[in-house]
Amino acid sequence: MRPTITSPSDLERDKTPLLLHCCCGPCATACVERLLQEERPCALYFSNSNLDTQEEFDKRLDALQTVARHFGIQEVVVDPYRHDLWLQHVSQVPDYDKLPEHSARCAKCFQWSLERAAQMANARGEKFSTSLTVSPHKDSKVLLAIGATHDNFAPYDFKKKNGFLRSTIIARELNIYRQNYCGCEFSKASMKHDNE
Ligand code: SF4
Repeated sequence: MRPTITSPSDLERDKTPLLLHCCCGPCATACVERLLQEERPCALYFSNSNLDTQEEFDKRLDALQTVARHFGIQEVVVDPYRHDLWLQHVSQVPDYDKLPEHSARCAKCFQWSLERAAQMANARGEKFSTSLTVSPHKDSKVLLAIGATHDNFAPYDFKKKNGFLRSTIIARELNIYRQNYCGCEFSKASMKHDNE
């Protein structure tokens, strides 16, 4: 088993190749920039069966591939879209389809993504982390706690070091697709409701 790394300086010293789970292109920007600044080798992992449609999956993947080209990242590993399996997973939470964002459904959703990233990274002999921590809409404490259930998790909180601000600046420079809802059909429905 690899040693547990907890302090930021340990994290920066660790040069084990990293598989970065990416929720979308905009969030990935600042995370990849930081990893490259720290000279950490990385590949990107697009595993987002939480998205409500294949069309949305393709749009976010296209944006991520633009980010990869911009930063010279050689590999974007794609986990095929299986929204049916994701629904099965989150439906273990009572009233999952009625809950708001930041609820138990979202923790279950994070668990799904991080589990898949952990398995893929393990198969590749890598550690993993997630771009989800860069967003102010996502609770880093919850994400880091779920990540820590896996031995090969690298606990980056990408909100730090102005991560979110950098992500908005770089995403605008690259002119990539920026979605206006979290991803699943429930988040889209609540967004429409909020705008009514
Ligand atoms: S709102 Fe976002 S985090 Fe929550 S379940 Fe839906 S896709 Fe996942």
